[in-house]
Amino acid sequence: MTKQYAVIGLGRFGGSICRTLSEQGQEVMAIDKSEEIVNEYKDLATYAIIANTTEQNMLKSLGIGNFDHVIVAIGDDIQASLLTTIMLKELDVKKVTAKAITEYHGRILYRIGADNVVHPERDMGKRVANHILSSSMLDYIELSDEYSVVEVLIGKSMIGQSLADLDVRANYGINILAIKREKEIDVSPEADKVLGEGDLMVIMGAEADIKRFRNNML
Ligand code: ADP
Repeated sequence: MTKQYAVIGLGRFGGSICRTLSEQGQEVMAIDKSEEIVNEYKDLATYAIIANTTEQNMLKSLGIGNFDHVIVAIGDDIQASLLTTIMLKELDVKKVTAKAITEYHGRILYRIGADNVVHPERDMGKRVANHILSSSMLDYIELSDEYSVVEVLIGKSMIGQSLADLDVRANYGINILAIKREKEIDVSPEADKVLGEGDLMVIMGAEADIKRFRNNML
């Protein structure tokens, strides 16, 4: 089922969201105050509209209140980002995701009703730092401040051991979600699965437990 999305602000972040949603076959209204930028989205988005979203009448006339999800990806202009977000919630948009450029901006966005606040640069920095910190950590998704999902290359000591032998749930409080071996992925590995060299493990757990696991096992 397709939903109706609108993306406001077609910079690098908003533009990328717009492109990805369109490629996934979703209906997307792409909005920016710059005509030049909007022109780039004419063929890609379902609708490409030139509008300054801090003008309430303009927002109303777009019928934006009927959209399922609106993404506010206005960059540096914090005032425009906040004003747009407030008005979207006043127009009863079901879900508003807003981009924050500082912690403070993010806190205000939540206060004024944004349903979801993202910090793309901060979060990507965190992700990259985690990659750098551990060559065995290949991918990383933060689920909350406490929990994350990470993909790790198994350590030498784990080769030839079964999942039951490792018993990471009891020993570390970590869940193994999947094992990747070359192109194959086993999404519900059994306890008797034996690990081999080069296997990748997708694990979920609290940051502190993952760190302990990483230090002891990898
Ligand atoms: P990024 O860091 O993601 O590239 P930018 O700050 O470069 O973000 O882009 C933000 C976009 O938001 C710009 O294309 C700008 O024209 C647009 N924008 C800024 N203010 C408004 C507004 N009031 N209404 C609509 N679009 C806006």
